[in-house]
Amino acid sequence: MKKCPVCKLATDPVAHREWLPFCSDRCRLIDLGAWLNEHHRIPSDEDGPHPAKNEDDYTTH
Ligand SMILES: [Zn+2]
Repeated sequence: MKKCPVCKLATDPVAHREWLPFCSDRCRLIDLGAWLNEHHRIPSDEDGPHPAKNEDDYTTH
């Protein structure tokens, strides 16, 4: 039996199929929020160069 990675509740592959590997939409959102907080920190003072986009090349495709 697999467990919800958020609340450690046992998940059912049929009952919780919409939210697997989580047990519910709530846990899915909690995990998503934690992931976003951990990996998607907005760089506050990063001043790196942006990759140049060639608009001509873009439009000809
Ligand atoms: Zn859960």
